[in-house]
Amino acid sequence: MSELRFRVVETAFKKKAATVTEPTERPSEYFAKYVFNRAKMFKYLPSMVYDKLIDVIDNGAPLDRSIADEVALGMKKWAIELGVTHYSHWFQPLTEGTAEKHDAFVEHDGKGGMIEEFSGKLLVQQEPDASSFPNGGIRNTFEARGYSAWDPSSPVFVVGDTLCIPTVFIAYTGEALDYKAPLLKALRAVSEAATAVCHYFNPEVKKVFTYLGWEQEYFLVDEGLYAARPDLLLTGRTLMGHESSKNQQLEDHYFGAIPPRVAAFMKDLEVKSLELGIPVKTRHNEVAPNQFELAPIFEECNLAVDHNMLLMSLMRNVARNHGFRVLLHEKPFKGVNGSGKHNNWSLGTDTGILLHAPGKTQEDNLRFITFVVNTLMATYRHNGLLKASIMSATNAHRLGANEAPPAIISSFLGKQLSKVLECLEESSNDELINIAGKSSMKLDIPQIPELLIDNTDRNRTSPFAFTGNRFEFRAVGAEANCASAMIALNAAMAEQLTDFKKEVDELIERGEPKVSAILCVLRSLIKKCKAIRFDGNGYSDEWKAEAARRGLDCETSCPVIFDNYLTESSIRMFETTGVMTRKELKARNEVKWETYTKKIQIEARVLGDLAMNHIIPVATKYQSQLIDNAYKTKQLFPAEKAALLSAKNLELIEDIAAHNNFIEENVAQMIEARKVANRIENEREKAIAYHDTIAPMLEAIRYHIDKLELIVDNQMWPLPKYRELLFIR
Ligand code: ADP
Ligand code: MG
Repeated sequence: MSELRFRVVETAFKKKAATVTEPTERPSEYFAKYVFNRAKMFKYLPSMVYDKLIDVIDNGAPLDRSIADEVALGMKKWAIELGVTHYSHWFQPLTEGTAEKHDAFVEHDGKGGMIEEFSGKLLVQQEPDASSFPNGGIRNTFEARGYSAWDPSSPVFVVGDTLCIPTVFIAYTGEALDYKAPLLKALRAVSEAATAVCHYFNPEVKKVFTYLGWEQEYFLVDEGLYAARPDLLLTGRTLMGHESSKNQQLEDHYFGAIPPRVAAFMKDLEVKSLELGIPVKTRHNEVAPNQFELAPIFEECNLAVDHNMLLMSLMRNVARNHGFRVLLHEKPFKGVNGSGKHNNWSLGTDTGILLHAPGKTQEDNLRFITFVVNTLMATYRHNGLLKASIMSATNAHRLGANEAPPAIISSFLGKQLSKVLECLEESSNDELINIAGKSSMKLDIPQIPELLIDNTDRNRTSPFAFTGNRFEFRAVGAEANCASAMIALNAAMAEQLTDFKKEVDELIERGEPKVSAILCVLRSLIKKCKAIRFDGNGYSDEWKAEAARRGLDCETSCPVIFDNYLTESSIRMFETTGVMTRKELKARNEVKWETYTKKIQIEARVLGDLAMNHIIPVATKYQSQLIDNAYKTKQLFPAEKAALLSAKNLELIEDIAAHNNFIEENVAQMIEARKVANRIENEREKAIAYHDTIAPMLEAIRYHIDKLELIVDNQMWPLPKYRELLFIR
């Protein structure tokens, strides 16, 4: 082993599980310790201010600036008791992370000293100098003003010595520069549209909530090995590396016993998450070696998104305390499963989950079917857009590989629910439909007494599967901000529910009774959106052909998929729901294309460097040894025998030369291709050039490097190998 590789592997082995100080308290006692939640608001705010703030949070009442000072005062008091010295507006720019700028509470007291100061003004709004955040041309540097504004619906929290205030980030001219602003608008739109539809069944419903329960997959890699892989360090994934002889064939990792050092990390992470109010619940090994999953109890969507962003940064920090690095990239290793982030999504009222079956009453069941069918219709109308919402340079590696949903959006309903929809489609209003099935599955329409949907019916290949009381959007990438998918899905749903209501109301106005008007529209929707329903194997090639015949979006090029944001139907949908304007959509797409280009560009540079100064020199050195050996053999033995003895080595010498030549030539060509692409000014065209010409070169070069890895003396190979990265824990 090369000396460096030997050293890192050895230290990795020696590493012991970091000792975790077991909290003496129970989770119920330390849960939300660092969150200014209702209990703390109640304790630290005057009761009138508390009531007003709760009204803002629960009912979206406008924030009365006069209470802001008192809220800030209460927050400051609470935070200072926790030893906090700074505050920060915490926001989610269009990069995949979060941003924060810390300011200290200190101000001059006018008498030569300092006081701790935090006013309502500072709580409510700030102008971070954030001109270098991606904005797609909305903010030219000469008018680089943007501001962050407090989102009272997500509670402030303390990390270390800083009070973090969740905020939206908006340009001076009003356009959103982040994920949270359009998310809040989408959630409001879907709440309004869904409430109106709920009134058909229960006029008492006041508000509809969107729920999100994400499942975060990730890899852990020993810190020492990670440091010796410049590709992991700089791009988040291995750009080279031959498959390990053993990887996930035996499926012995999935749900297996959690290794002690990993368990210590998980425990630590869970305690810290719970202290920050993130209701983490589930942990287990995933399919690939060194791959794991963590899932919380679902929450209101905006809060769930914030909590996922917070969790991802928490993971990175906690992992380092345990000598690990966490990999959130969707495909860090070739040949083993990648990581996703299933987004379990549902709508609910104050009285329960709308997508939950069975209901107790006919109204409940009809309402359930109404929401399922409208979800399918929204997904069908915007299947291309939904795919764009989860697409990225990194997630592109995972989709369509034999593990994750394909790059085609379809929805799995399971046998029973499919049967229900079929019967409804074929029914007439006067008919009574009985569906025989497991237990007493029976749906009578319009008299619907009972509906039992069995959610054990699972299909792992579906990107958007119904799972009993929710839809599971599985195509979302591990590294992504869930908001991107949630903005598209909820906005599409808002549009669809509004259109549905309009159609039903028209029938009612023409004298149709309510239930039959609803059934009539549902029937036509079931027919229209049939193409989106697919319960078969999403990995199969037949499905790709079938999906194309059905007219579903089958595009696989990431930059072209982004076009879905700018189709007239997407723009209309986002504008009518008030979620985003054409200008915002255009700007955001510029950011998407630019980010795509930069990611591939960085990968190409890193691979080029590694190929030329790590791989080629080592392969050449080994080749020289073989040449040397062949010469000496020739001196030592008679010609015929020498030829025989050196035959294999001579072959290897030629193989190495061929691989080296290919790599050198292609690295040079890749540099040229980059120069050509970099001259393209249009961001979309540039991204397409990177996708079409440069990305395939990465793969081709890698192929030859991976071959060399198998040939070159293991002692000389400069980079930790897959078997080390994936199995040392
Ligand atoms: P699986 O791996 O089988 O999909 P998990 O238990 O790992 O299931 O994750 C399920 C996730 O779905 C959890 O985060 C859970 O809180 C969430 N969830 C359950 N019911 C709902 C619902 N009605 N709406 C949104 N999320 C839900
Ligand atoms: Mg799941």
